[in-house]
Amino acid sequence: MVAQPEKTASAQLIDGKLIAQQVRDEVAGLVAKRLAAGKSKPTLAAVLVGDRVDSQTYVRAKGKACEELGMGSISHHLPAETTQGELEALIKKLNADKDVNGILVQLPLPSHLDEERVLQLISIEKDVDGFSPINIGRLAQKGREPLFVPCTPYGCIYLLEKAGVKIEGANAVVLGRSNIVGMPAALLLIGKNATVTVCHSKTRDIAGVVRQADILIAAIGKMEYVRGDWVKPGAAVIDVGINSKPDPSKKSGYRLVGDVNFDEVKDVAGFITPVPGGVGPMTIAMLMKNTYRAAEIQQP
Ligand code: NAP
Repeated sequence: MVAQPEKTASAQLIDGKLIAQQVRDEVAGLVAKRLAAGKSKPTLAAVLVGDRVDSQTYVRAKGKACEELGMGSISHHLPAETTQGELEALIKKLNADKDVNGILVQLPLPSHLDEERVLQLISIEKDVDGFSPINIGRLAQKGREPLFVPCTPYGCIYLLEKAGVKIEGANAVVLGRSNIVGMPAALLLIGKNATVTVCHSKTRDIAGVVRQADILIAAIGKMEYVRGDWVKPGAAVIDVGINSKPDPSKKSGYRLVGDVNFDEVKDVAGFITPVPGGVGPMTIAMLMKNTYRAAEIQQP
C-alpha cells in the first residue's frame, strides 16, 4: 500500500513575483543613486543566436527589465548560421567595450557552436550569468567567492532566506544537476552549510531520498514529478521547473506547471513556490542585481 502523505495545514506560499519586484525596486534605487553620482549607466549586452521563440522572449524580457530599472540594454541578434569565429569575435568586442558592463549569451546555442568555449571567453568581470568556469570554480571552493552567482540558483536561495527557512544544518535535496540550475544550487546550499544530496536520472529511489529533505529544489523539467507522499511534512519546496500542460480551458490550450505536483505537495510542505510566479521572476531580478554589481566592480 502506498503511504498517504501526512496532512499539515497548507504550506506557506513563497511569492516570487512580489520578492522579485522588491529586488528590482532595490536595484532601481541603487542605479538612480549611481547615476546621480555622475557614474556610468549599468549596461547589459545580450547575445542571441538563432530563432528560438522562447529565447527571443527571454532576451526581450531581460532588455525590458533593464530599461524599467534605469539601466542600459544592448541586444545582438545573430542568424542561426553564425560561425564560432563570428560569435567569438563579438564576445571579444563586448569584453573590450567600456560601455558594456554585463554580457549574457542566451542558451542554448545552436548545436554547431561550442558553448563551453564561448562562455569561457566572457571576461570574468562581465560574466553576469555566472556560468564561466572561473565563477563556477570559485563557487565550488571553500573560502572563495564567485564574482557573480548564477541567476536562477541565486533566486532559489534568496527565496528560501526571505521566507525565513533555516539552511544551515538542513538536509537539502536538489533534483537535477544541470550546469545552470542543479549543480550551482547544490554548491550554494553547501556554502550555506546544508547537507546536500543531488539526484539525477540515474538515482535509485528518488522518492526515498526526497523524503529526507528539509529543503527540496526541483529542477529536472518533468511535469508535476514530485508527489505529495514524497515530501517530508513541513519541508521547504522550491520548484524551478517550467512545463507546458495541455489545458483546454485556456485560450493558449496550455498552462504552465512545475516539476512538483503543487496540489498534492502544498498540503504537506511548510513552504512552497508556485509555478508561475515563483522562481521564474527571480531569475531576471537576480540578473539585474548582477548587472548593477558588474558596473560597481568596473567603475566603483
Ligand atoms: P536540464 O539541463 O535538462 O537538466 C535536467 C536535469 O534533471 C539533469 O541533471 C537530469 O539528469 C535530471 N533529470 C531528468 N529527468 C530526471 C528524472 N526522471 N529523475 C531524476 N533526474 C532527472 O534542465 P535545466 O536547464 O536544469 O532545467 C530544469 C527545469 O527548470 C526545466 O523545466 C526548465 O524549464 C526550468 N528552468 C527554469 C528557470 C527559471 O527561471 N525558473 C531557469 C532555468 C530552467 P542527468 O544529468 O542524469 O541527465
